Amino acid sequence: MSAAPRPSSPVDVLGDRPVRLEDVVDRAAVDELCASLSRLFGVGLRVYSAEGALVASSPFEQPVCGVVNETADGRRACGAVVDAAKNVDATTTTAATHTCFSGLTYRIVALEYEKRQVGRFVLGPFASADLAQAPPSLRTTLPTIDARAESLLARMPRIKNDALERLAEHAKTSLELVIFSSHRAYLTSKWHLYSVRESYRELEEKTRRLEGALARLTEVDRLKSNFLATVSHELRTPLTSILGYGEMLSDGIAGPLSEEQAEFVTTIRTKGEQLLALITGLLDLSKLESGTMHLRPTSTRIGALLGEVVSTVAPVARKKGIEVSTSDDGVPFDLVADPVRLRQVFTNLVENAVKFTPTGGSVAITARVVEGRDGAETGGALLAPVFRNLEVAVADTGIGIPPLEREKIFDAFYQVDSGSTRAHGGTGLGLSIVKRIVEAHGGTVRALANEPCGTVFVVALPSAHARKIAEDASS
Ligand code: ADP
Repeated sequence: MSAAPRPSSPVDVLGDRPVRLEDVVDRAAVDELCASLSRLFGVGLRVYSAEGALVASSPFEQPVCGVVNETADGRRACGAVVDAAKNVDATTTTAATHTCFSGLTYRIVALEYEKRQVGRFVLGPFASADLAQAPPSLRTTLPTIDARAESLLARMPRIKNDALERLAEHAKTSLELVIFSSHRAYLTSKWHLYSVRESYRELEEKTRRLEGALARLTEVDRLKSNFLATVSHELRTPLTSILGYGEMLSDGIAGPLSEEQAEFVTTIRTKGEQLLALITGLLDLSKLESGTMHLRPTSTRIGALLGEVVSTVAPVARKKGIEVSTSDDGVPFDLVADPVRLRQVFTNLVENAVKFTPTGGSVAITARVVEGRDGAETGGALLAPVFRNLEVAVADTGIGIPPLEREKIFDAFYQVDSGSTRAHGGTGLGLSIVKRIVEAHGGTVRALANEPCGTVFVVALPSAHARKIAEDASS
């Protein structure tokens, strides 16, 4: 019998490719089912996909088949029969049969799923009720076969047609049930895979967009820093000249000034100084942001440095009636820092402290060495690395900073109260520069409340030894 064209398989829900029975079914479950049906009815059972692939097999050798398979000729003839039976076309409505030269029969039944033929199963060989004795084809195919074959055939139990129908129906229902549940599980796992793949694709797309945005922002930031640096530089040169000439006028080098002229020149110089401070701040900030500010670290004594800061602010503090004091705990500390930049940090903090403290108040600068373990408060103390920091606190008794503002004041141009700050002067750049310089030294700066009033700025700087370890670890 010629092989009929294969019916199409159900199409995979995800449209990847047509689903094949061998991909979808749980083979172990089908094998198990075939074996139990074979044992129950005493017949072999093989399941093939629509494409002809063997999906499960439970061979059940009848005694007569054992005799046939004793010779090479017998085995070859038997193989040809099995092959032919497998290719017999069974439609979804009519089951087909194939008869062996021995007189035994194979029953071929179509397997359906969702109204499509997805495969077939072959039952047999068995002796049907109408087999009376060994047919002549047994001897014509295998002339030398042992005489036992005939007697075994004669003694084989016959399966009645209605029993065969029931057996085939039972096997078909059971196998289609396994196909149904296997396909459901297959679809679920496919959908799961699909949704994971989809989420991954979306994530990749978002990452790609974020990377693009980051690259654009970095470029814009770089351009902004370059622009700021160029503009600041170009403004500073003529301004220095204006201030120089203003100073010469004040000094009377161009002749004596009237009282009113002297007052005008003083205003020009004060405003000029303010503009210069702003430009210098912008220049510093752009250098810090673009990473082009090069620190010149050297072994630094904090006591001496703080002393210089106090003498710088002393005239203004004295004028306002504010007492400025410094103290340290005398513990030696190996500080390696850029003294010029560190002086800028503390000058800024102490100037702010004086600026925002009313007459009669005080500013206390204290330096101490603090040792401990990171994460000591969170319970991870034992494994955490030991740190040794120099902490410099600048505490004033001034107007204080509300808790919600204490992070924001480190942003460029941020001022808590622009009205009152305008009265005090200032640009809002100082603390952002302070923070960046401190961080460039591997340290931190934070603002806290002072008791009973005022603010404390705490700058923590790591020891040179700790900084080297941190730098080695990150390189
Ligand atoms: P500014 O040039 O305005 O002082 P800063 O960046 O140095 O800029 O400070 C930002 C703002 O933080 C100030 O305008 C002020 O509102 C607040 N501030 C800074 N230091 C103190 C302080 N010691 N006490 C109260 N407010 C402070």
